[in-house]
Amino acid sequence: MRESAAQRNERIKAAKAPWDILPDIERYARDGYAAIDPEDRDVRFRAWGIYTQGDGAGVFGQAVPRFMMRVRIPGGILTTVQARAVAALSRRHGRGLADVTNRQNIQLHWVEIGDVPAVFRGLAEVGLSTQGACGDDTRNVTGCPVAGLDAGEVCDGSPVVREIDRRLNGNPAYGNLPRKFKICVAGCREWCCYPEINDVGMTAVRRGEQVGFSLRLGGGLSTAPRLGSRLDCFIPWAQAADVAEAVAAIFRDSDCLREHRHKARMKYLYLQYGWDDERFLREIQARLGAPLPPAVPEDLPPDGARDHMGIHAQRRAGLFYVGATMRVGRSHADQLDALAELADRYGCGELRLTNAQNVIIPGVRDPEALAGELETLGLPVSASPVERGTVACTGSEFCKLAITETKGFAAALAAELDRRIPEYPAESLRLHVTGCPNACGQHWIAELGLQGVRMPNGAEGYEVFVGGGLGRDAAFVRRLGVRFPADEAADRVEGLLRGYLLHRRDGERFRDFARRMPDPLLELWLGTAEAAS
Ligand code: SF4
Repeated sequence: MRESAAQRNERIKAAKAPWDILPDIERYARDGYAAIDPEDRDVRFRAWGIYTQGDGAGVFGQAVPRFMMRVRIPGGILTTVQARAVAALSRRHGRGLADVTNRQNIQLHWVEIGDVPAVFRGLAEVGLSTQGACGDDTRNVTGCPVAGLDAGEVCDGSPVVREIDRRLNGNPAYGNLPRKFKICVAGCREWCCYPEINDVGMTAVRRGEQVGFSLRLGGGLSTAPRLGSRLDCFIPWAQAADVAEAVAAIFRDSDCLREHRHKARMKYLYLQYGWDDERFLREIQARLGAPLPPAVPEDLPPDGARDHMGIHAQRRAGLFYVGATMRVGRSHADQLDALAELADRYGCGELRLTNAQNVIIPGVRDPEALAGELETLGLPVSASPVERGTVACTGSEFCKLAITETKGFAAALAAELDRRIPEYPAESLRLHVTGCPNACGQHWIAELGLQGVRMPNGAEGYEVFVGGGLGRDAAFVRRLGVRFPADEAADRVEGLLRGYLLHRRDGERFRDFARRMPDPLLELWLGTAEAAS
């Protein structure tokens, strides 16, 4: 009987631990692409952050197969020395591209197998790695990018992010999970790293004088979106990494999840295997060997731009952090070098990458002057509303699962909408573009989500989703059942947004407007801009 995808993955991981293949990668680098064991290429490479690019034989008919390499950056905190190293590696081995992802990683593309060890070494020299950036392990642990700086944060969650990363990433005990495992630690009040859609989401709260975390489990998007549910517990600060480890162990030991690869995420323990919050709490406490205190009340953040963009005072008087929009995370070596130069000159020698694919320079004394320089670099601090809120997945440029191109499309659409609708309200529109139903562009939580589809004539098109959001009144988008060709997107979306501008209530965000309006009206406005009037 033919092996299923899940059986093949599990067999390959069991035969040799994915993190043990560094010597093999060195050998492949010497002997060339043809020498690569397909089982390493398809499964074990991922544990080292290496993915085949395009169809595995290169994209656009390239004769030499190439790879994507994802650099893991816990909490998105990067020194300028590290940023320059990534820029240099990108320039030398990746055609200068360095995309910022919505999990605070940087992705290099176009890397040949012969160059992979050089990338490993270049990253290791500055304390970075691709280990665990892809594959069936704990992915980059995300956190608030202004941790330790933000005047209003509940706590600086970055030590917890680093401790979870230290315990889980590279630890053989957690090197073969059923599938990817995503953890987020939010110390800020905005919950900017989206704890609701992670397998494990921790959000800082106070219990009297004690600082700790609330715990949400089983969040995720893809084809079966689920908001993480909150357990009745308070995690004392010092136990946060213990709890993360306990949940990782529960996930690892849930063999039922290893039977179907597309249902191997932790949320399926809730969705398919009858687990509930009480059972999770019991299992966690059993692994901790002691009960956790009950949950305490918490303030859910309002939905909206959770991105720390613009100029903000830091906790330390006289210092500011400055957030600039990167436009769908598309960056390159020269821009990274320029950002590092600005961060050294104006700031404290750090860059912070956000979950909305943007960048923040902290420790700044003259934010206005820095904002001017960032503007010149094409990284606006006061970005227009649509550009600021636009996110896109990798799409067909490099992703072999994609139905449509996304990054160029989303950036062009945002720019065109900003040009056509300069009167759009100051609050950003969270426009998420995703190239297939796998939802890496997170269209499920968008105010306006566009998912790539193939039109009947074979052209690239997009299906429209509206009204998603997190925080208070969290809900996933509503599918409108409207599809249009990609080249009609600007006209269609302009029509929809003009309908919003004409009929919205005072201060009403697009998300709430779209939730309030019946489908036929939204569909009418999606027809043309004239229909909106
Ligand atoms: Fe690729 Fe689809 Fe994920 Fe986009 S959503 S990166 S197209 S798998």
